[in-house]
Amino acid sequence: MKEKKEFKTETKKLLDMMINSIYTHKEIFLRELISNASDAIDKRHYLSLTDNNIPTDDYKITVEADKDNKTITITDNGVGMNYEELENNLGTIAKSGSQEFMEAVSKEKTPDVDIIGQFGVGFYSAFMVAKSVKVQTKSVKDNKAYVFESEGLDSYTIEESDYPNYGTKITLYLRDDEEENKYSEYLNEYTIKDLIKKYSDYVRYPIQTWVTKYDPKDENEKDDENSKPKTHLELETVNSMLPIWKKNKSEVTDEELNNFYKAKFYDYQDPITSIFVNVEGMLTYNALLFIPKKPFYDFYSDRSEKGLQLYTKGVFILEKCKDLIPDYLRFVKGLVDSADLPLNISREMLQEDKAIKKIATNVEKKILSELSRMLKNDRDKYLEFFKDYGINLKYGVYENYGEKKEQLKDLIVLKSFNEDKLITFSEYVEKMAEGQKDIYYVTGKDKESVSKLPQMDLVKSKGYDVLILSDDVDEFMIQVLKEYNEKKFVSINNGDLDLISEEESKKIDDLKEEKKDFLNSIKEVIPSVSEVVLSKKLVDAPCCVTAKGELSFEMERVLKQQNQGIKAERVFELNPNHQMFTKLEALSNSDKEVFKKYINILYTESLLQEGILPDDPKAFAQDITELLMK
Ligand code: ADP
Repeated sequence: MKEKKEFKTETKKLLDMMINSIYTHKEIFLRELISNASDAIDKRHYLSLTDNNIPTDDYKITVEADKDNKTITITDNGVGMNYEELENNLGTIAKSGSQEFMEAVSKEKTPDVDIIGQFGVGFYSAFMVAKSVKVQTKSVKDNKAYVFESEGLDSYTIEESDYPNYGTKITLYLRDDEEENKYSEYLNEYTIKDLIKKYSDYVRYPIQTWVTKYDPKDENEKDDENSKPKTHLELETVNSMLPIWKKNKSEVTDEELNNFYKAKFYDYQDPITSIFVNVEGMLTYNALLFIPKKPFYDFYSDRSEKGLQLYTKGVFILEKCKDLIPDYLRFVKGLVDSADLPLNISREMLQEDKAIKKIATNVEKKILSELSRMLKNDRDKYLEFFKDYGINLKYGVYENYGEKKEQLKDLIVLKSFNEDKLITFSEYVEKMAEGQKDIYYVTGKDKESVSKLPQMDLVKSKGYDVLILSDDVDEFMIQVLKEYNEKKFVSINNGDLDLISEEESKKIDDLKEEKKDFLNSIKEVIPSVSEVVLSKKLVDAPCCVTAKGELSFEMERVLKQQNQGIKAERVFELNPNHQMFTKLEALSNSDKEVFKKYINILYTESLLQEGILPDDPKAFAQDITELLMK
């Protein structure tokens, strides 16, 4: 009996979008249907390996065009679908990807990038080119066959049928040609061949289509210019099938790798780099890894999952095996095909699996080596990479606290104050001046903004370079590292930079002792600071504020954004060689009120230079106005 059913609301919406096609690359419908067919064969193959009742077959996918009836059929001998599967898989949106796709499309009114490609909307893409679709199918787990038919609007019908073969045959009744869309072109032999080659070349099962072949000339036949050569049609396998990662590394060209990447991961740009791994021995596996030119559309979304595709002995197991890649490299796309894993391995088992762990360690190493190579040989390309993904590497350093990831450290580049460009730690160390003991850093947006900081004076005057940290994570990373090649990282905000001679230092210490009461009287005015000291690093500026201990002002700011109100310990530093110092001393004896105002203003100014707003801006403004009026 023929049953008529309504599509679920979400499905209707998606279908509606497909029919009123928002998308120009309608041709991808073939890729989607072939990919479903190939998945279905994978599933049958997999079942047959674990269940003796499931027969195997000579697996293949056939694409046929019928010009007279304007139909395209895609036939596979995969698992097929039983009644419930037909209803659940084709009557409703099966995959969360489709939902995400819809959200993305509705946000972006005119999708100019290959959005659709990044999601894989599957079966429903048929309705971009077809006015109606018929699915004949018979499940290998069930002997009954069914036919599903729909015009894609609101409803579909399911009926028992006498379709004889295990697997699925999908018939698309093409739409009539329109001004901009010539659907009938999909019926051309060469268009079909091209599309299969372009999108489905590495599908592991033969994809066959009818191809015109010229008959050999009959010897007795006379050469007649007007007679057309005789032809016949042959079913020919169009795709090259052998998974590219199974080929010999030396036989695969960059172009092939790029094409494979684009088709497999639905990107429209070549990757920045591809890594081909072939390992044989105790553990045998192949891996293909890619770094996309730009982070994927959903890279920053909570829903984006990291992971590499996992195959075992060429059979697809898992779309995203997260245990194969560390978090900080989650932007890497790719796959691993291992010969050492059982086919029926579960996700839970994967986590514990020793082979997976080993492969993951090696995959990480390979990626880092490739990046080191790029940094060394093609710096521009590396910097381009770093712009988009550097922050991930920085988190990598931070997260792997305690682990000595030398290679990873050496992949970090930070802005150099002296050179005004990005340099590595090792480049910094190489150029350290004579007598320079530590690696200096400052937090700030860019060279210009940090250049004005009073704390920079002495370091600058010595010609020492300073690394400018501009990402939130930078200082956390530096603190985890503590040192590089036994050179300590020192913030120019630190109290004592140890930059002056012992003699000078002692002089200041003595002076501090002498001026003890004076310094105490300042601290009384600003009790929130933990210390008032004589500075050993100021040259031109009268004073500055620095942070004492582990927590810097920058970290205080980052933590505040995360609603953690921990404050850095503030130290108010005065330049004893500055005129202001003498003036303050005089004021402290003559006019206590004005002295207090001066201190408040100077302290607030110092905070402002650190990007810290005063707690009481009004009082600050009033103090200044009053003094100006004098
Ligand atoms: P998906 O992205 O999950 O493939 P589709 O909309 O393309 O989404 O297909 C939905 C589901 O329908 C598939 O997951 C699969 O279970 C089933 N399906 C689609 N095509 C076939 C087919 N040729 N053979 C068997 N099952 C299929």
